[in-house]
Amino acid sequence: LIAITEVKKRFGDNEVLKGISIDVARGEVVAIIGKSGSGKSTLLRCINGLETIDQGSIVVAGAQFLPDEVHLKALRLKVGMIFQQFNLFPHLTAGGNVMLSQMVVKKTPKEDAEAVARKMLDRVGLAHKFDALPDELSGGQQQRVAIARALAMQPIALLCDEITSALDPELVAEVLAVVKELAAEGMTLVMVTHEMRFARDVCSRVVFMHQGRVHEIGAPEDVFANPRTPELRQFLGVQ
Ligand code: ATP
Ligand code: MG
Repeated sequence: LIAITEVKKRFGDNEVLKGISIDVARGEVVAIIGKSGSGKSTLLRCINGLETIDQGSIVVAGAQFLPDEVHLKALRLKVGMIFQQFNLFPHLTAGGNVMLSQMVVKKTPKEDAEAVARKMLDRVGLAHKFDALPDELSGGQQQRVAIARALAMQPIALLCDEITSALDPELVAEVLAVVKELAAEGMTLVMVTHEMRFARDVCSRVVFMHQGRVHEIGAPEDVFANPRTPELRQFLGVQ
């Protein structure tokens, strides 16, 4: 579904991605782990067209995305992304937040956008919060609204960048439960995460990034139980 081939990306002198190749199959759940600064967020941003790439190619659902504004915009429409910060509009209700991009970006009529918003909020367990403002919601609920907003755009895949890192520990589980359900329903997911247990239980593959490269990749049981490189052993805190 997503073919990333020899992708390179630099910021000035700093080559952040040094030739990344990963294929993500439809319905796969891929975890990306690695130290701070290893290029995880940059990779996700390249996959959904928030950053241009310098070399290599990204093919999503058979379409190649060239680094021009038209292609990048199309890519952002196809691939959803959720961030550590929920980025909800504070003056809009949960429902309004889920409706907005459908109406603005997809030109969906209001009634249809509202129907989709109700359905997606229901899917993340927040049907009853349609009229609540973000500051009337817990962090976990706000993040679930952000997930509903991404789902409302009917993405073919969802990228998650440390979506539980800003949450109090007791709120992490409810967000991960939603992600787990999406995975069970067959959604293709690529997630940068520090939740190693979740990665082990839910993901089909784990990518360990180190200094802008895919340092190890494999099934979670292999990657976690038999780390082959000293860098991964150190990252996991095992000998
Ligand atoms: P973290 O775990 O801290 O989120 P990360 O693995 O997501 O780290 P990135 O955010 O991808 O790392 O950053 C990789 C490198 O790219 C860092 O050295 C960072 O300073 C640099 N970088 C990222 N975005 C930019 C930018 N817009 N301009 C310049 N440098 C950038
Ligand atoms: Mg990051």
